[in-house]
Amino acid sequence: MHPVTVTVFPSFCRLCGRTLEDPGQKIVCGHCLDRVEFHHGPVCPVCGRFYHQPAASGHLCGHCLERPEPFSRHRSLGPYAGRLKEIILLFKYKECEALGRVLGQMAYDRLATDGLFAGLDFIVPVPLHRKREKRRGFNQADLLGRALSDLSGVPLLPRVLIKVRYTPAQVSLEAAERESNLRGAFGVRKAGRIDGRTILLVDDVFTTGSTLRECAAELRRAGAREVRALTVARAV
Ligand SMILES: [Zn+2]
Ligand SMILES: [Zn+2]
Repeated sequence: MHPVTVTVFPSFCRLCGRTLEDPGQKIVCGHCLDRVEFHHGPVCPVCGRFYHQPAASGHLCGHCLERPEPFSRHRSLGPYAGRLKEIILLFKYKECEALGRVLGQMAYDRLATDGLFAGLDFIVPVPLHRKREKRRGFNQADLLGRALSDLSGVPLLPRVLIKVRYTPAQVSLEAAERESNLRGAFGVRKAGRIDGRTILLVDDVFTTGSTLRECAAELRRAGAREVRALTVARAV
């Protein structure tokens, strides 16, 4: 009989290669998490656009003045750049699903203080088309939504907002094309669940805002009283 030996391999940070020493740390080390850059200054009170001048505080941005948004307010943690972008890109891999909790915690710690979660009825993740979700194995927005639901106590309502039409990846399109690409791409099942409710839409990245805009408009058409939105990062 050979003795059974169990070897525990140390795990390493997927970004910098340091050993993950704290057993609670997953995938990315504390040093890398500390280097995430958050936006600290004022933002547009509706779309959450980052302002770089304190004088702009409280003023709507040019886009929101020109065209009202279907969501009452959107907030992101920081620009889609540097360590935050690297963590979000890692989060697309199946074995990095645990980052949903890490990013959800960051978002909750910094954005819940803004009243974003006050009086909410449901958290609704931005859906993927079932074909795309099947290929990837999971929906990142679901994982973020679940983490935020656990932290805030606001129930998660998945599979009510659905992607009804398969659309080409937004990343290959210009802003105007992104809007038309998504028109009519989302639908609501069991509209009675959201009628008169206040909802927080959750997604990983805000690029031009066309996805959140289309989803929020669909929820409003189905009777939602108010739709707010949260993303981890915003491409500026
Ligand atoms: Zn690291
Ligand atoms: Zn704005």
